[in-house]
Amino acid sequence: MGINLTILGISAALPAYGRNLSAHLLEINGHSLLFDCGEGTQFQLKKFNKNLNRIESIFISHTHGDHFFGLPGLLSSMQMTDRKSAINIYGPKGLEEAIGAILFQSRSEYSFSITFHIINPVSKVEIFANNQYKVFAFPLKHSTETYGYLFEENTPLLNIRKDFIEAFDISIESIKEIKNGSDFVDKYGILHLSKNITKPPRDILSYAYCSDTAFNENIAEWIKGVGLLYHESTYLEIDKEKADNRLHSTAKQAATIAKLANAKQLLLGHFSGRYKALDEFKNEAQEVFENVIIGEDGMEVKL
Ligand SMILES: [Zn+2]
Repeated sequence: MGINLTILGISAALPAYGRNLSAHLLEINGHSLLFDCGEGTQFQLKKFNKNLNRIESIFISHTHGDHFFGLPGLLSSMQMTDRKSAINIYGPKGLEEAIGAILFQSRSEYSFSITFHIINPVSKVEIFANNQYKVFAFPLKHSTETYGYLFEENTPLLNIRKDFIEAFDISIESIKEIKNGSDFVDKYGILHLSKNITKPPRDILSYAYCSDTAFNENIAEWIKGVGLLYHESTYLEIDKEKADNRLHSTAKQAATIAKLANAKQLLLGHFSGRYKALDEFKNEAQEVFENVIIGEDGMEVKL
């Protein structure tokens, strides 16, 4: 499965230094999921050549404006491009009322259905599943009700050993069954156990979206072993007091979560407008966790 993440906006609170407000697009075989939708998200989708009508679900972390003010404009543009397919929007209470009021007041009529799924998990909870992947939500620690999300593909199929395929005449149907874990009985009635004829599948691809939050070790438990962890780092340690007061994290704290979670890769973002250069975020994080990416608008990361 090819899964690609595009950062549409990486700034906190205000647009600054060419950095736009929070939004991440995850593309899975032509289907897209959007995580947060800061103001201007639809412009960023256009700028980076992303089709807004491929978005099937939108996951909003919380109702601070920099994380969801882009929704009305995005939905309106979907309507104007004659969208037919339904859209699902996940987020905390208050989201449906806020967006609903704008859509009502603007007398918007929609040719597609918009369904709000209001969530309030107190721990990690599965909120979506299909035959390709699952999405979980879990609480973050912020100044308003805020949730993080974990995307996880379903267990990939087993790989059949090449020497086995060459030695036996296996039907397409049997190949499917073996890849799904079945044993195989050959034409002489001999049983070949799954473990002897297959190799383990590759690692599950996964991505966690954690914005906005103060340092919270529970997150590490909920996303254990994640492939790509996006964790906010609004501040550097030098401004830790601000981070503590506003329930945000520093680069070092984000890196500590990545380490505790045994993540493969850490993507930093939600940078405060007080910092123009971001090199120090990388240095600070790398004192704790080696594999760090500094997010920027338009950056693509393969899961
Ligand atoms: Zn916030």
